[in-house]
Amino acid sequence: MYRAKELGKNNFQYYSESMTARVFERLTLENNLRHALKRNEFILHYQPQVDARSGKIFGVEALLRWQHPELGLVMPNNFIPLLEETGLIEPVGIWVLETACKQSRQWHESGMGFVHMSVNLSSRQFNNSHFIASLQDVIRETHVNPEYLELELTESMLMRNTSSTITALKSLNSLGVRFAIDDFGTGYSSLNYLRRFPIDTIKIDRSFIRDITHDTDDRAICSAIIGMTQSLSLNVIAEGVETSGQLEFLKTRQCHYIQGNLFSPAIEAADMTKMLADQLLI
Ligand code: C2E
Ligand code: MG
Ligand code: MG
Repeated sequence: MYRAKELGKNNFQYYSESMTARVFERLTLENNLRHALKRNEFILHYQPQVDARSGKIFGVEALLRWQHPELGLVMPNNFIPLLEETGLIEPVGIWVLETACKQSRQWHESGMGFVHMSVNLSSRQFNNSHFIASLQDVIRETHVNPEYLELELTESMLMRNTSSTITALKSLNSLGVRFAIDDFGTGYSSLNYLRRFPIDTIKIDRSFIRDITHDTDDRAICSAIIGMTQSLSLNVIAEGVETSGQLEFLKTRQCHYIQGNLFSPAIEAADMTKMLADQLLI
């Protein structure tokens, strides 16, 4: 019945075993997800953000993975929607912040300098009025320097309800943390918010970078985004840089901050520590 309703009115669907299997799969996943936090099954991988001029890592993005006992490593696109739907994203999101901040502190204490730490926020976390207090606790407990913590938001999160968004951003900003707009160019947006909101960084979405070596429209869009960020004195990071051709084009447009598999995919904390230690030797 639900499948028929999903497909619109005046419709019928035969019952099939695969439907039961699908519902069962979802329930199992949801059930497993509920236990994943206390079973320590979540881990963070880190992807370096590099200054292409010096080749040096100036920051990392924390990316969540689920180490499932049977399924192996599960990528976020497969479980974050379910975390959001069930509200589990709130405790898991706090765990992500805590873990990322502890890691950042640890790198600082072991002489790696300040590594900018980017953490993705879900809209549910951002719209929760308790979030600011939780973030404050995390900053206090982990002794992380908030200036080196960048929260990644999406355009749609900023567009939803502008007056409460401004209040949320301002109070978070008063803690000293920075903000980046993730997947820039893919959502509904109003360029007005770039003036009104305390945004520090724009991350050009991977879909615009993919074909910049040959697609004239994508080249024009990327050049325009980069030009706009320069005029507004914002930082710009190109996401998903995979080839030296893409990098060369970005360099000609003065976009020097890059993140992507060309330099390194997201890797485990221990490997990231090694990568940071290696660059101290150069
Ligand atoms: P995102 O924040 O835009 O993160 C970038 C994604 O692009 C990551 O996928 C990264 O592994 C991938 N990527 C980076 N460079 C390349 C490249 O050169 N080529 C290709 N093909 N991919 C590249 P990942 O880790 O699967 O994460 C997917 C999305 O899940 C993230 O997109 C973010 O929206 C969400 N996410 C990840 N961790 C968290 C989290 O802790 N909290 C929340 N709320 N969302 C998260
Ligand atoms: Mg991100
Ligand atoms: Mg992104």
